[in-house]
Amino acid sequence: MPFKVLIANRGEIALRAIRACKELNISTVSVYSEGDKDLKHLKFSDETVCIGPASPLESYLNTPAILSAAELTQVDAIYPGYGFLAEDYSFAEMCEKSGFKFIGPSSETIKNMGDKITAKTLAEESGIQIVPGYKNDIPKDPEKFKNIAKEIGYPIMIKATAGGGGRGMRVVESEDELISSAEITMQEAKNAFGNEKIYLEKFIPNPRHIEIQVIGDGKGHAIHLGTRDCSMQRRHQKIIEEAPAKNIDQDALEKTYEASINLCKKLKYEGAGTIEFLYENGEFYFIEMNTRIQVEHPVTEMITGFDIVKAQLRIALEMDIKLDQDSINFFGHAIECRINAEDPKTFQPSPGKITKMHIPGGFGIRYDSHIYGGYVVPPYYDSLLAKIITLANSRNSTIKRMISALDEFFIEGIKTNHSLHQEILHDKTFIDNKHTINYLENEFLKNDG
Ligand code: ADP
Repeated sequence: MPFKVLIANRGEIALRAIRACKELNISTVSVYSEGDKDLKHLKFSDETVCIGPASPLESYLNTPAILSAAELTQVDAIYPGYGFLAEDYSFAEMCEKSGFKFIGPSSETIKNMGDKITAKTLAEESGIQIVPGYKNDIPKDPEKFKNIAKEIGYPIMIKATAGGGGRGMRVVESEDELISSAEITMQEAKNAFGNEKIYLEKFIPNPRHIEIQVIGDGKGHAIHLGTRDCSMQRRHQKIIEEAPAKNIDQDALEKTYEASINLCKKLKYEGAGTIEFLYENGEFYFIEMNTRIQVEHPVTEMITGFDIVKAQLRIALEMDIKLDQDSINFFGHAIECRINAEDPKTFQPSPGKITKMHIPGGFGIRYDSHIYGGYVVPPYYDSLLAKIITLANSRNSTIKRMISALDEFFIEGIKTNHSLHQEILHDKTFIDNKHTINYLENEFLKNDG
């Protein structure tokens, strides 16, 4: 009997997972909401089950509905993708308890890495450099608290241990704001995450976002697939990603690779994961580990030839897989542009019907997307429409290839950020690889008028 996997997601990542399953002769069950009956991947899935109304809370976040679908179709495992329930440890736990393999690390690892203080502690114990700060209990005495902050040095970031998605964070410029900012962050964290615990970090003013892709076998062996640079972001949302990260201090990188592997070994990490860092003045500072596939995984696949989604499936289903660091080779440079259904100037979402479109093609161009001419982009979900990925032997050639791919690409009927990508690809700071995480918002978009 071949394996059967339920895909608990939608959009391009659901299609990506089906493609990987097909190559591995795994049969697929796709769940979908009432707002998603025209999704492309449903046509390629062996079975489909409607799990509820369009609202994500009632469908893609509805654990009982998803587990009932799994029960009904008798799948072996559940593929979570990214977003939705991918990093919800209680969902992973429910899958485990219901007898379905959750494709990813153990619920315990998801829980530990989802708690930022625990994650920082585990990272530090593995030899990873963390952002300097304070993660013990905040003293009740305001003077003691102020002294701790003074020692770290302003500006400081107050963060909620249960925070995520860019929420539960606040920058404090000086001592006068410390107590009130801490109180507000605690209150917000309590309301949003049901956990008011906070910690302090030194604010890193102008870093790059560099991340390391790791793959673990769940038994204490792990490899890395190199770096990605995701510094081109707006409101902590990545827009362009590339692999490998260029102009990185090699000694610091080697140490960080080694410590990252140590962390995976310590966690007996299973499947694909990403360890994220802020990088400034030749130093890596751990910020978090994402215990799932990332949107930007294709750039790593392009430069290594390693299929990360197939690896997730193979590891979870205990199919044969070779995880050998020495056999991972890196070729050239890859860039991904995320095409979103949004206004390129105001960033307002732009759902609606795609009347006409053209997909780019050619040597070194990859296109991962679920959309097609006539498809109606629903208003209920993330605005990601397509990922265009180019590969060439140097960063400059990859940029040129992307410019050409973007020139071929068009979507009519809805607004997209296509023109923003075209502008960034011609921007001198981007071409010179001088941008940090603040560049797009604080300079590029401001200059744009
Ligand atoms: P989340 O889980 O909410 O995404 P992260 O800890 O990953 O939170 O941080 C999100 C973003 O916030 C980072 O990519 C970075 O832009 C910014 N950030 C986080 N910590 C710091 C820090 N200590 N100094 C400067 N910027 C930070």
